Amino acid sequence: MKRWNGWGDESHSYEVPVKSRAALSDWVGPPSAAKSASLGEVLKTVPQSRVTAAPFLSFDPEDRLRHARGQSFGDWVALRSGQLGVFPDAVAYPESSEDVRSLLEWAQRTGTRLIPYGGGTSVAGHINPEAGSTPTVTMDLRRMSTLLKLDDVSRLATFGAGVSGPDLEARLRAHGLTLGHFPQSFEQSTLGGWIATRSSGQQSAHYGRIERLFAGGQVETPKGTLKLPVFPASAAGPDLKELVLGSEGRLGVITEATVRVSKMPEREEFVGVFFPGWEEGLAASRTIAQAKLPLSMLRLSAPEEARTMLMLAGHERLLGALEAWMKFRGAGEGKALLLIGSTGSAASVTFALEEALALTRKHAGISAGRTFGAQWTKNRFRAPYLRNSLWDLGYAVDTLETAAPWSAVPKLLRDVEAALRTGLEKWNEKTHVYTHLSHLYGDGSSIYTTYLFRLAPTPEETLERWQRLKARASEAIVAGHGTISHQHGVGVDHAPYLAAEKGALGMSTLEGVMRGFDPSGVMNPGKLLRGAGG
Ligand SMILES: Cc1cc2nc3c(=O)[nH]c(=O)nc-3n(C[C@H](O)[C@H](O)[C@H](O)COP(=O)(O)OP(=O)(O)OC[C@H]3O[C@@H](n4cnc5c(N)ncnc54)[C@H](O)[C@@H]3O)c2cc1C
Repeated sequence: MKRWNGWGDESHSYEVPVKSRAALSDWVGPPSAAKSASLGEVLKTVPQSRVTAAPFLSFDPEDRLRHARGQSFGDWVALRSGQLGVFPDAVAYPESSEDVRSLLEWAQRTGTRLIPYGGGTSVAGHINPEAGSTPTVTMDLRRMSTLLKLDDVSRLATFGAGVSGPDLEARLRAHGLTLGHFPQSFEQSTLGGWIATRSSGQQSAHYGRIERLFAGGQVETPKGTLKLPVFPASAAGPDLKELVLGSEGRLGVITEATVRVSKMPEREEFVGVFFPGWEEGLAASRTIAQAKLPLSMLRLSAPEEARTMLMLAGHERLLGALEAWMKFRGAGEGKALLLIGSTGSAASVTFALEEALALTRKHAGISAGRTFGAQWTKNRFRAPYLRNSLWDLGYAVDTLETAAPWSAVPKLLRDVEAALRTGLEKWNEKTHVYTHLSHLYGDGSSIYTTYLFRLAPTPEETLERWQRLKARASEAIVAGHGTISHQHGVGVDHAPYLAAEKGALGMSTLEGVMRGFDPSGVMNPGKLLRGAGG
């Protein structure tokens, strides 16, 4: 069962190795553990629902609690402290587009707000009900998860949008197919959520981001049904799919989605390459990204991240051996680690990796073979479980991400890290900060930064520390002309910074679009756009 106040399935955990705890103390200070509220304690705080009985609704307090928050840092503080304050008034479980239509009609008639809910893995406050006097119902789409149609000739599959990552892949695998969309939240997130937040998978260099995979479908909006027919390409005016991608539940509910699928690859490989320093790693990564080789992944960890990940995974012996070997090969402190993945036919994987490795050698890259690739593959969906055990110890961890053209990447990365490193000086607290470039393109890259700090004596102060760090880093992103989100979306947390990249006309156009589909503002108010009915 899904954890109600943390990440992932309750049957899995990933403890911080005892040997690594000294490193945590060195980075930010000794732990300051906080007591977490129990499920029973929080259930007592769920208020009376303001909604009277309607079809598909559950009023069960535990259902309401389990749909009250996502996975943003603010959500964690609320769940762990038990101070949620706001809960949905009920949870709806529609089973078809027709059910969704009748819920939309009911919501408009009764003045109830609706929040579409996929897997609840949002890290930006997307699915949180707003405080206020208007009743809110969360619409959990998990019962709409079947494979509705498979066109094997065209490699198109149509699913109910509430299908989770593992279910979707299992159904395709039975036909020798894959979607290949693997965000780190894969275990819990859903197809509808990926589309509504413009998600990016770890191997999107090969399969494409969700924008490329989403071919069409059906959206139920308060104004009616929006059908998105499937074409391989079209010049028939602006593409309405673009309005649905990233719509964050504001214009309606994606009920069916057709996606472009691929044959299961013959071979998949990940190799690691070390560089003597960050500059060499960056130059090599950019060269490889611009060479347009058939790679599935390029992921460049800055030295601090490479060291931290190995320490937290308890691989200090591997780290020691690596240090000695790298010294022997002439590389000093400050190594960067590039993971290169390739997916496809055996011949194309061999070709792509040989070409990529040849380019790394021109920038003093030293191949570490498949060891680090295998390590990454093993932990690719496991790493978020560390967040549970770090919190239990007394440490907070959060991530943020942006993307920018190559020419802006080095300064933006430095500025975001500096904003985080110095953000807690007011409290005399340290922040441990490390970064990787997670998705590399010909013209630029995403920048994905993790920051770790100590929990404060009270949840209010922990929240205040995080808000300060988040605001400082977001301001650095805006000042450095990065996007406020490369893959996590806008939600509530990033909404104050959206106008900086869309401009006044862009914002009013988006508001007009949302109003066109949802004139009475019942859909997920307060997310994405802070005006427009919310
Ligand atoms: C540990 C962790 C790792 C992550 N890694 C990645 C990553 O690698 N790449 C990445 O892109 N993101 C990542 N995320 C962020 C998150 O998983 C994505 O934003 C994901 O796409 C959300 O999907 P979901 O099904 O959980 O949606 P939810 O969180 O339930 O909802 C997100 C938004 O989409 C809307 N929505 C959901 N379903 C529908 C629907 N059917 N119709 C209309 N609107 C809908 C909701 O109203 C809400 O606004 C990560 C999150 C966590 C916690």
